Amino acid sequence: MIRATLWGIRGSLAAPGADTARYGGNTSCVEVRGPAGTVIVLDAGTGIRQLGAALTGKTRRVDLLLTHLHMDHIQGLGFFAPLFDPEVEVHIWGPASTTLDLKARLMRYLSPPLFPVHLRDLPRLVMHDLPWEPFRIGEFVIASALVCHPGPTVGYRIATREAVLTYLPDHEPALGVPRFPQEPAWTSGYTLARGADLLIHDAQYTLAEYGEHVGWGHSAVDHTLAFAALAHVRRLATFHHDPAHGDQAIDAITAAAVAAARPSFPVTAGAEGMSFALGA
Ligand SMILES: [Zn+2]
Ligand SMILES: [Zn+2]
Repeated sequence: MIRATLWGIRGSLAAPGADTARYGGNTSCVEVRGPAGTVIVLDAGTGIRQLGAALTGKTRRVDLLLTHLHMDHIQGLGFFAPLFDPEVEVHIWGPASTTLDLKARLMRYLSPPLFPVHLRDLPRLVMHDLPWEPFRIGEFVIASALVCHPGPTVGYRIATREAVLTYLPDHEPALGVPRFPQEPAWTSGYTLARGADLLIHDAQYTLAEYGEHVGWGHSAVDHTLAFAALAHVRRLATFHHDPAHGDQAIDAITAAAVAAARPSFPVTAGAEGMSFALGA
């Protein structure tokens, strides 16, 4: 069984407040646990702080997979307690750019004047540029691929023998496609999402909002549902909610998109604290 728990579901900027209390205001962070106890963390948005506190004293190794280095996906990194714990080995995986490796790219944020601590001062940190072939972490096989979003950005397909989780938090597969969706082979993210037990996917905008943000790298909820149907996923959790969407707006936007698309799979609007069990 894979267990996936959402610690941060917000896109772009943390959005705490009475209006977002139910879905949550923290930016992207998902905890993934395998049957043998391997812990993988997806993205280091502000939600990672509370996850780090929950992991303290309970694990000796954490593998953090970054999709890309936009601030909403790395802002919590310096507040992730396992990074400062000499008992815990932290491995960070993420995309290099054409000119810089992951370490050099991350150091731009994790160094003064933007942050008081240098990466080199962290006790047991290992950095990995993402390999382009699938790789293993414990009982997981992990595949990544570049997806449609500004700058080097990947999605992840995380599989055990029993289950598959796909994570595409920042993704605009409808960009440049007159009638979305079209052929699977030409659709960004398709090979990562195909047949997944759970797809966690960008659902930042309404269709009207998307019209004003074409090329910004995100999806309208309607595109998210169409992409999930194209990929024949078993379940969809919408994610990366716009900071301007309060709880009632997320309820209404999700209900309207589901009523229009009538998907054959369950759709859940992702909320902080939600947990999904996949596979036997
Ligand atoms: Zn983002
Ligand atoms: Zn982004």
